[in-house]
Amino acid sequence: MTRVSGRSCIVTGAAQGIGRAIGEALLDEGANVCFADINAEKIAEVADANAERAAQAGAKVTHAAVDVVDREQVRAMIAHTVEIFGRLDVKFNNAGVNKPMNFLDVTEENWNFIMGINGLGCMIGMQEAARQMIAQGGGGKIINTASIASRQGFDNVAPYCASKWAVVSLTQSGARDLAKHDITVTGFAPGVVATEMWEQVDQDLMEIGAAERPGQAMEEFSAEILKGRVAKPEDITGTTTFLASRDSDYMTGQIVMIDGGMTLV
Ligand code: NAD
Repeated sequence: MTRVSGRSCIVTGAAQGIGRAIGEALLDEGANVCFADINAEKIAEVADANAERAAQAGAKVTHAAVDVVDREQVRAMIAHTVEIFGRLDVKFNNAGVNKPMNFLDVTEENWNFIMGINGLGCMIGMQEAARQMIAQGGGGKIINTASIASRQGFDNVAPYCASKWAVVSLTQSGARDLAKHDITVTGFAPGVVATEMWEQVDQDLMEIGAAERPGQAMEEFSAEILKGRVAKPEDITGTTTFLASRDSDYMTGQIVMIDGGMTLV
């Protein structure tokens, strides 16, 4: 038995990056994991690639194609997970997007895209997971992906920062409203993590004249990180597995910073 063995978990945004690493770490500890993502082809490949890992841990793996802002698709993802694993214990709302723009150039389209997926997507994910947990008799864990950008502003990413502050508010408000159902809501705030997200962000930063070459932003951030380097997705997963486990049962409403000491808040 491990800290999460047998638990039924969903991780959104799990086709790559932090979400994939969260799901794989849970599988390693024997949790049953539904990898979910808007990229239908890639999420099926990720689930296939993890079949052996699941078998070795005595766990089950499945996947779902989902757009986190489409409530019906979110419900279908949860119903699929419950059909395969029998229940839902842990829901990671991790899917997120960024699209840097100079502050004065931010458009309604840019705002709605980022706030939609990062903010509304998080709220719908929390609501539908909670409905399932309540239907099961209560109890469960909802874990949201925040960011260092949910604690301070950064250059050229105002809607992203606003959306991640929203994630903190949803975590605190959800913790209050769902406590009576024995559902805890926590979050974690990565610093700078080397994932595929940065390939597009680097392109966007160059397009708006905020960077001259790929990797420049990460190099500049590294200088501000006490640990002296940006994170790998695996640097995040010890904490996420802890948040999914019984070891964190007395925590709710809190955001855990995992930023190598980049922000001291
Ligand atoms: P990523 O771009 O590598 O992966 C994000 C995944 O989310 C992708 O697979 C994408 O297909 C999926 N996705 C996007 N829109 C979706 C939607 N509408 N529905 C379902 N899935 C959708 O990003 P990442 O770096 O792994 O980031 C994961 C989370 O961590 C995000 O919430 C991000 O904001 C947050 N975060 C990242 C960093 C970082 O430096 N990488 C830092 C702090 C927080």
